[in-house]
Amino acid sequence: MIGGGARSAEVTLPGFTHDICSAVHPFGIVSPFWKTLPLSAHGLEWIEPPVQIGHPLDEGRAAIAVRSLDATAAGLGRDRDVYKKIVGSVVRDWPKISPAVLGPPAIPRHPIALGRFGLRALRSIDRLSASAFAEDATKALVAGIAAHGMRPLDGALTAGVALSMGALGHVSGWPIPRGGAQRITDALAAHLRSLGGEIVPGTRVTSIDALPPAKIVMCDLSPRPLLQIAGHRMPPSYRRALERYRYGMGAFKVDWALSGPIPWTSADCRRAGTLHLGGTAREIALAEQATWDGTTPDRPFVLLSQPTVFDPSRAPTGKHVAWGYCHVPHGSTVDMLDRIERQIERFAPGFRDGVLARAVTTPAQMEASNANLVGGDIGAGVMDLGQFFTRPTWRNYATPVKGLYVCSASTPPGPGVHGMCGYHAAQLALRQL
Ligand SMILES: Cc1cc2nc3c(=O)[nH]c(=O)nc-3n(C[C@H](O)[C@H](O)[C@H](O)COP(=O)(O)OP(=O)(O)OC[C@H]3O[C@@H](n4cnc5c(N)ncnc54)[C@H](O)[C@@H]3O)c2cc1C
Repeated sequence: MIGGGARSAEVTLPGFTHDICSAVHPFGIVSPFWKTLPLSAHGLEWIEPPVQIGHPLDEGRAAIAVRSLDATAAGLGRDRDVYKKIVGSVVRDWPKISPAVLGPPAIPRHPIALGRFGLRALRSIDRLSASAFAEDATKALVAGIAAHGMRPLDGALTAGVALSMGALGHVSGWPIPRGGAQRITDALAAHLRSLGGEIVPGTRVTSIDALPPAKIVMCDLSPRPLLQIAGHRMPPSYRRALERYRYGMGAFKVDWALSGPIPWTSADCRRAGTLHLGGTAREIALAEQATWDGTTPDRPFVLLSQPTVFDPSRAPTGKHVAWGYCHVPHGSTVDMLDRIERQIERFAPGFRDGVLARAVTTPAQMEASNANLVGGDIGAGVMDLGQFFTRPTWRNYATPVKGLYVCSASTPPGPGVHGMCGYHAAQLALRQL
C-alpha cells in the first residue's frame, strides 16, 4: 500500500474509514511545494473545522483556537493582548519565516523577522508561558500544541513548536482531507503517474544493490532502516554518524468506530477538528517528562481527531470515527487503551457507551508496518537542537555515496505530511547531477 504516514483504511468495521497515521495537516496545506502541484485536480480537498484545536479542562471549560487570531485571543481572558502580540507576530511574519521553518538550514532572507521568531522559538514553552501568560487555559493550550514535538516541555525549541503550529492555526488552519489522509497520497500518486512516474508497491527493498541502475536513488528512510539497506556502501565515519542518530518517544494509537459524535461536555470541543486531552499545562508537562524518562503516566497526554463531524463520507450515516494516540516511552509494550479512554471519558462522559469497535496499534506494530517508525517514534527521530539543523547528519539530504540521498522526515524540516523533505532533497540531487 502506498502512502507511508499518510494512509486510510477500514481498520475497525466496514464503511468506517480511519487514518492509519496522519490525520490533521497544518503543514500540508501550507506546503510551498504542494501549492505548485495540481492536487485539487486529482481530488484533494481540505476541510477546515470551525474550531482548529479544542483543549478541554475540568468542569466543562475549554481553551480553543479558531482561525481568527482576534477571536482566539478574546477567549483567553487576561492573556488576550499578549497572545495577540506573541502569536500574532508569527502569523504576520509567516511568509518571511516559513522558508526557515519549512526549509533546509540556510542563510536567512529575512533575518529581522527570523530573529524575532527565533529568540522566542528557541526557548522552552514552560519558560515562555511562565513569563508571558497569566491564564491556566492559555498555558494549557500552548502546552498541548508544544507537546506535538514529543519532548519534555522544559526543553529548548518546544516554544518554537507551539508558536509555529499555533500560528498555522490562524494562517490556514489545521485541516483534514475529505475522505482521509489517503487522499493526499492518492492525489500525489495520480500527479506522479500523469508525469510518467511508476510506483511499485508491495516490495520491500532489502538492499540498494537490488535496485535498477539509476543516477539518483532517494531513500525515504530514517537512519536505522537506511543503514540496513545501504550501510555496506557507506564509509565507516558516515555509518557511525547515522548510528548515533537518536530516536525518541513512541506512540500508542487507537481508532474507534462510534455510534454517534463524542459527547464532549464543552460545546466548543464538539466543533473541534483536533483535541488535546491532558488538562493543565502542568499535567501535560509531567506526563511528557515521565514518558521521556521511560515511565508510563497514568494520565497520558492524548491527541484526538474527530473527522466525521465535518466529513460524513467516512462512516455510515449518523456514525463516526475517532483517531487518537498518546506518547509512550520508546518501544513501550504497555497497553494504553484504558488510560487513553479514561482521558476521553474525563472530558466526554459516556464516550465508551458509543464505541462500536476499536483498533489498537502498538509501537511494535507501527515499526513492523513501516521500518521508519523505530520504537514507535512517529517523529522520525528526536527534534532537539542537536538534531534540528544536522538532521540526520551535517550533510542533511546528501550522503558520501554518489547519487544516494535521504529524503525522509529524518531530514529538515522534519516530521509531518508536507513533502518538503523530499522537495529539498530532490533540489539538491538535481543540482549535484
Ligand atoms: C500514528 C501517526 C500519526 C501521525 N499524525 C500526523 C498528523 O496528524 N499530521 C502530520 O502531518 N503528520 C503526522 N504523522 C507524521 C507523518 O506521518 C510523518 O512525519 C511522515 O509520513 C513522514 O514521511 P516520510 O516520507 O519521512 O516517510 P513515511 O511516510 O514513513 O514513508 C516511508 C515509506 O517507505 C516505506 N519503506 C520503508 N522501508 C522500506 C523498504 N525497505 N522497502 C520499501 N519500502 C520501504 C514505508 O513502508 C513507507 O511507505 C503521524 C505519524 C504517525 C505514525
